[in-house]
Amino acid sequence: MTVAHRFDVVVIGGGHNGLVTAGLLAKRGFKVCVLEKRDVVGGAAITETPFGPDFKVTALSYVVSLLPPTIVKELELERHGYRVFPQHGYFAPAADGSSLQLHAEAKRRHTEVSRFSKADADALESWDAWLGSLAGVLGPLLTTVPPKLGSKAPGDLMEAASLAWRLRGLSVQQVGDVTRLMTSSVADVLEDWFEHPRVRGVMAVSGVIGTWAGPRSPGTAYVMAHHKLGDIGQGAPAGAWGFPEGGMGAVTQAMRKACEALGVVVKTNAPVNRVIVRDGRAVGVALENGDEFDGDTVVVTTHPQLAFLSLVERKELPGDFVQSLERWKSRSGTVKVNVAVDRLPEFTAKKGFDPEVHGGTIVLAESLDHLEGAFQDAVAGRAAQTPMADICIPSVFDTTLAPEGKHVISMFTQWVPSTWAKAPDRAQLDAYADRVIARVDAVAPGFTSSILHRQVLGPHEMERDYGLIGGNIFHGELSVAQLFHMRPAPGFADFRTPVRGLYQASSATHGGGGVTGIPALQVVKAIVDDR
Ligand SMILES: Cc1cc2nc3c(=O)[nH]c(=O)nc-3n(C[C@H](O)[C@H](O)[C@H](O)COP(=O)(O)OP(=O)(O)OC[C@H]3O[C@@H](n4cnc5c(N)ncnc54)[C@H](O)[C@@H]3O)c2cc1C
Repeated sequence: MTVAHRFDVVVIGGGHNGLVTAGLLAKRGFKVCVLEKRDVVGGAAITETPFGPDFKVTALSYVVSLLPPTIVKELELERHGYRVFPQHGYFAPAADGSSLQLHAEAKRRHTEVSRFSKADADALESWDAWLGSLAGVLGPLLTTVPPKLGSKAPGDLMEAASLAWRLRGLSVQQVGDVTRLMTSSVADVLEDWFEHPRVRGVMAVSGVIGTWAGPRSPGTAYVMAHHKLGDIGQGAPAGAWGFPEGGMGAVTQAMRKACEALGVVVKTNAPVNRVIVRDGRAVGVALENGDEFDGDTVVVTTHPQLAFLSLVERKELPGDFVQSLERWKSRSGTVKVNVAVDRLPEFTAKKGFDPEVHGGTIVLAESLDHLEGAFQDAVAGRAAQTPMADICIPSVFDTTLAPEGKHVISMFTQWVPSTWAKAPDRAQLDAYADRVIARVDAVAPGFTSSILHRQVLGPHEMERDYGLIGGNIFHGELSVAQLFHMRPAPGFADFRTPVRGLYQASSATHGGGGVTGIPALQVVKAIVDDR
């Protein structure tokens, strides 16, 4: 028998975007429910206990930066347990026993980088200022609703004109810089500024993280900039990152609590099977078990290919929209390796415990050539011989994660072949994880023997278990062809969809890609405006 439930708004997907959408709408007086397929909310922002209750692992995402303070305030997330430890900078050790440390504090960073190149140390200050000025341009664009470029409707033309008007303050130089940033490879940009391979290597990581592209691929300069736009609040500079207490799952659990405090009904184990459309208008959803949830408004926050190629009937959607989504690129070579250890790694380059090293981000990226080689291995169909890794040990400052003396380590690594999303190779994935661990052992001898447990999540696991099609961490590549008015399809980057009453707010919409909540902020505005 079909059971019907009635809400003003039904949200599909309980990732952070679904939860923020629901909470903000409830705050504006709407009766809202969130339907999540899995038995836990959070999507890609979750904390798990794969090694038993003693260890909490931030299974996929691990640092926050891009979540706007307005969301934290409006949903009173701090009252619900949201707390962030600022990140301390980067430590890049190499197998020859040397290390390069990028301190958060400028003076110390200058001294350290000077050991490799005085010119690079001097360049860092103007590099920061340059990136800061570009963040001043790109930051506001991230929260701008993209206009419907090409549409001749008077309202759309007005929107495009108003965007052009807002950008009138840019100088010719700034327009040139932004153009370069959007179209260049991160390698090209870094080679213009820095000379030392080690400096270039560590700085290139933010341009390739989560990306099916090596540092020499055009478009990766933008990915680097995307990661520099955030602000964790607390007076930290733009681009600063922080580790949430309790892992990323604590962020989405705080969001769930905020939602429930505002009266949102959050249902887990509630996989939506289809969006119910009548006379071209969304009127609710049906779960796989047949239960129906009626609502004048439906917001979908899953990967867009799940949303529009499976939950909505083809006949309700224009052919060009469907074609854009069929061509949406969601490739990935990312593998998350999470381990529990019985002691902290001790680095050859820096003996003993250093809160800035162990409590910061440890980067295995020796040079642009090393990163490009790791990517090219995966393009050629084999997992990287010398993987890149972005590592953190949150239990150093967050005692809620592991028993005293023991630790959990999160390793974001790249690349394995993107084809592994559909055709996994578990033996090769495990061999790749062994190589990641051996790389850490080479800079911190004894690391391998300190491992108590490990969890290895490749593109296949990310697609199958978390709904991240292709394993892509952003619900779709952040390539130039998939940004701004193209995200996720031309003509539909304003958080609306071809079906009246059906809205979208996944990371595949503009402002998404990471735990930003910006799609949620925008869809709430669109819904309120349309009503
Ligand atoms: C390995 C990895 C590391 C990352 N690191 C970071 C990081 O450090 N910092 C950062 O900011 N970002 C990071 N990201 C990216 C970030 O986590 C994601 O972009 C973001 O969490 C996506 O949020 P979302 O709400 O848009 O989608 P999701 O979190 O994917 O949520 C969508 C939800 O929809 C549910 N769903 C799917 N189908 C259905 C259905 N039929 N019915 C009901 N529910 C359904 C899914 O189960 C899921 O819970 C990382 C991602 C990965 C994978």
